[in-house]
Amino acid sequence: MGRLTGRTALITGGARGQGRAIAAKFASEGADIVILDVCGPIEGLDYDMASKADLDETRALIERADRRCLAEVVDVRDEAAMVAVAERTVNEFGRIDIAVANAGIHTYSPLVEMSAQAWQVVIDVNLTGVFHTIKAVAPSMIAARSGSIILTASVQGVEGGYGNISYTASKHGVVGLMRQAALELGPDNVRVNTLLPGPVFAPITTNPTLQRQLAGESGRDLTDEQIEHQTVNGPRNWHLLRGRPILPASAIADAAIWLASDESQHVTGITLPVDAGHLVMPGRNPDPIVDDELGTFDYEGNALTANAGQ
Ligand code: NAD
Repeated sequence: MGRLTGRTALITGGARGQGRAIAAKFASEGADIVILDVCGPIEGLDYDMASKADLDETRALIERADRRCLAEVVDVRDEAAMVAVAERTVNEFGRIDIAVANAGIHTYSPLVEMSAQAWQVVIDVNLTGVFHTIKAVAPSMIAARSGSIILTASVQGVEGGYGNISYTASKHGVVGLMRQAALELGPDNVRVNTLLPGPVFAPITTNPTLQRQLAGESGRDLTDEQIEHQTVNGPRNWHLLRGRPILPASAIADAAIWLASDESQHVTGITLPVDAGHLVMPGRNPDPIVDDELGTFDYEGNALTANAGQ
């Protein structure tokens, strides 16, 4: 018996990356799987979304584990389509025991330069898409008086990130959604929890465009080899645990299966970091600005006051 034998799990953004790793892990533990993915371009993004071939590859992985799989091209921004796929899941598999709201996107831009479009598209996918996912699966879980809903936020659901205003805001929103949904659905025995991944080896992070943006001015001159090295090794500065480069997608699947299974049956409303200890590290400004024009601070008085303007 697997830890999820007899269960059905619906996973958004399931064509590749963490969604695929979660789908494969859940199938290996006995679950039938529904995977959804947009499988096409999203306006204004400078990296590619998954393809239909990616979705088919994930489906093949699940079927190789001898589990049933429904694979659908669905955009989480489309509420009616999300409700329809949830209904189809119940019709075909009889139930939805687990939902993983994993689909997410990223745009990189400083706050003052971020366009309204770049802001909105991230909020629509990362926040409203998660709301649609919860809303689509909740009715059948409430009726069954059982369910585990797992929302993929990020460590940026609880702290800031560089060049990330819409992403950080959306992921903080996901943590808020989780708390409110856990509160409302708990009396019907439906659990809602959040995963907070640190940097994970998947295209949202490994795409060379983002890696060049993260490298700032020098990013333009980096060779492909240097970009690859930075992608894998850059997160070492982010991690506390010994010897950890960027984390594999399987690290998130290993945490997701605990939240999906009965082993966490008494757990709801939590944020679970999978971040190699990042969040316990003391904050550090990597590039503090020395500004003499602000004046010097007065250390004699009760308060530290700058001389500027005096
Ligand atoms: P990824 O880019 O490989 O996967 C995201 C998947 O979501 C893709 O298959 C994409 O096609 C799909 N998707 C995007 N928009 C969609 C939409 N509107 N409707 C349906 N599907 C859509 O990256 P990943 O790391 O596997 O991302 C999974 C989740 O983890 C995301 O929510 C991401 O924000 C979060 N996350 C990732 C990292 C990381 O470093 N990789 C860190 C923290 C959190």
